This record gives sequence, C-alpha cells and structure tokens, in this order.
Amino acid sequence: MYDYLIVGSGLFGSIFAYEAGKKGKQCLVVEKRDHIGGNIYTKEVEGIQVHQYGAHIFHTSNREVWEYVQQFAEFNRYTNSPVANYKGEIYNLPFNMNTFNKLWGVVTPAEAKAKIEEQAAAYRTEHPANLEEQALNLVGKDIYEKLIKGYTEKQWGHRATELPPEIIKRLPVRYIYDNNYFNDIYQGIPIGGYTAMIEKMLAKAEVRLGVDYLEHKDELDALAEKIVYTGPIDAYYGYQFGELEYRSVSFETEVLDQPNYQGNAVVNYTEYEVPYTRIIEHKHFEFGTQDKTVISREYPAAWKKGDEPYYPVNNEKNNMLYHSYEKLAKEEKKVIFGGRLGTYKYMDMHHVVAEALRVTKEELI
Ligand code: FAD
Repeated sequence: MYDYLIVGSGLFGSIFAYEAGKKGKQCLVVEKRDHIGGNIYTKEVEGIQVHQYGAHIFHTSNREVWEYVQQFAEFNRYTNSPVANYKGEIYNLPFNMNTFNKLWGVVTPAEAKAKIEEQAAAYRTEHPANLEEQALNLVGKDIYEKLIKGYTEKQWGHRATELPPEIIKRLPVRYIYDNNYFNDIYQGIPIGGYTAMIEKMLAKAEVRLGVDYLEHKDELDALAEKIVYTGPIDAYYGYQFGELEYRSVSFETEVLDQPNYQGNAVVNYTEYEVPYTRIIEHKHFEFGTQDKTVISREYPAAWKKGDEPYYPVNNEKNNMLYHSYEKLAKEEKKVIFGGRLGTYKYMDMHHVVAEALRVTKEELI
C-alpha cells in the first residue's frame, strides 16, 4: 500500500512527491502523458533544451521559493527581455525608454511622459466602451497600433473593438532604460532543463507514465491511503455541473540549420496579419552556441474538450462553476486537489512551488 497516489507529474505533484519521500512516505505517481514534468517539460533537441509547452522563465521575489528550487538545479542569469516585431520594425518590451526612443526619438523621461500624455489626451474618455478605447485612453495611438492591437486581437481571437475594456486594466510604462520584463528580484533558467529538475524531485517515487488515472480510478484508488490530484477538477467529477473553459495555444516547432535565427529568445509579432503571436528561439534561454537552432511559433487557439487546457478563463461563469466543484473537493477526506488544473487557477511556477510547499507542510506534519 502506498501512502500517496499522486495524479500528475507536473511541478505540483513532483514537489509533493519529493517532500513526502523526505518524510519516508511511499508515493506512486501516475502520469497520462509519456513524459514527466507536466507543462514545464523540456526536451533536448540538437543539444538545446526545448520548452515543449511554451517558454518557461522562472522568476520570483519569494526568497524561500528561490532557495528551494536551487537544490534541484543551478539557475543561469537569463533575464527575459522580449522584443516586438511590427512589420519589420523592432521595439523593446516592456514599454520603456528604449521603446519610446525608437518610436519618437525622445531621450529623457520627461519628454517620453509628455509624448504619451499628448497621445493619450487625444482619446481621453471616462467610460471606454471596449479594449481599443481603453488602450488608446491609456497610451495613445502609436503604442496601441504598433504594439498592442494586433497582438491582443490574435491572442483573444476577436477584434479589439469587440473586446471588453476590463481586459486591459493598466498598461505598465517604465520611464527607465530597462528591458527586463519581470520586476522580480530573482530570475533564471535551470541549467540542463526543467525535466532534469523534476527527475530529481521524483527520484524516490515510483512513476508510471501513460496512465490516465480517471480511466483506472477504482483500481488505483485502492493502492493508496490518500490521493493528490493535479488534473482538471471538472474531469474528476465527471463534468457533473458542466465544463470549465480554457484558452489554448499550439506550437509549431522547427529545427533550423543555422546558428542564430532571431537573436533573442522571445520575439512577439504584433501585427495582425502574421498569424502567430510569438517565436521562441530556445537556445537563447541558455546562451547556446550550437550549430543549429530550434524555434517554435506560437498560435493562440480556441479550446474544446479534449484539447490541451492551457489558460483557465476566470470569468464569472467559470468561477461560479469552479466554486461548485470546489465545494465537493473540500468535503473529500482522502483527496487533495492541487496545481493549476486542480484549482482552476493560472499560476506561475513560483506560485505553484509556494502552494505545493504550503500544502505539504499542512499535510505532512
Ligand atoms: P501541470 O504542469 O499541468 O501538471 C499536471 C499534470 O497532470 C500533467 O502532466 C498532466 O498530464 C497530468 N494529468 C492530468 N490529468 C491526468 C489524469 N487524469 N491522469 C494522469 N495524469 C494526469 N510559469 C512561469 O513561472 N514562467 C513562465 O514563463 C511560464 N510560462 C508559461 C507559458 C505557458 C504557455 C503556460 C500555459 C504556462 C506558463 N507558466 C509559466 C505556468 C506553468 O506552466 C505552471 O505554473 C506549471 O506548469 C503548473 O504545474 P502543475 O503541476 O500545476 O500543472
């Protein structure tokens, strides 16, 4: 008999397995995919760690979380500094003095502020009716048209005039010459990839790949005292109240016979006519010098049952539905729900680490 049956070998399930193992607990991990790691899985191609489910950059201001992950990998000094490509013009992101200088030739923060104020003033309205009006209201025409409009429309699958203004609450602008996308204190990529990190976490557990827990629920439940479930919560309950919705994304990955395709790990394509939103060039996450390179084009996609669920759509309807499932989950004596799918919440990796540590502390006294 195992102490814990862990459903899902993503970051949440793997940290639980590691912490339980340290306390001498026996864990069986079942994973429906043919690999461990969940969405942070990286696969080595041409000596390059390819982020199979989208670019993953670890960043946090939580020192405990940062120190915790260091035991599983050494992190490099990668700093996320994406650039935007609008019809062949290149702009730095997030919006900062480098972006403003390229757009308007302004040099000082005061000049940049005055320019944005002048541009936004032309569209000032107290009650923006849609996303377009909201964005124009905040940053004016140039930034909106070159860097926001097309990208956002592709991401949401709707024109900006059909999207609600609340999607963009504020648009952070930085009046310093700093292209670092994140504001966190700590940032980096695990040297050797995320999969190697997960392998270390799962070292003491028994792992069975290619096993869908829900298809063998009764026989698997009988093997363990308790269950840690990190799959979709609505699927666990047989969708009895209805289906939770997600946004999806698809990736087109290619090996290119050249050492450097775009000179940066992340390039956003902000014009509507280019069908993908981003191209990721994986080797730049680890300052790779290989002869070849691997790129992934990212296409936002509508989601239907059976597709890979990526981003929960936390609108009122879905949140209410989730709360109905959450009520059932709270009554469970033998099952712990965790991770992004088990709690229907978008979580960055550092949130998952913090949450997994909180749950394990509570559970494994
Ligand atoms: P998952 O990784 O989804 O793990 C759940 C596992 O459960 C999966 O392996 C799944 O196959 C398995 N499973 C589900 N159902 C069953 C079943 N019935 N039987 C058996 N197994 C099952 N975070 C960052 O911090 N930085 C980033 O740059 C970043 N980029 C991201 C980019 C994208 C495109 C996305 C979608 C997310 C990104 N994230 C990022 C978030 C990060 O991916 C998550 O925080 C993390 O992967 C969540 O881990 P998890 O264990 O909760 O879930």
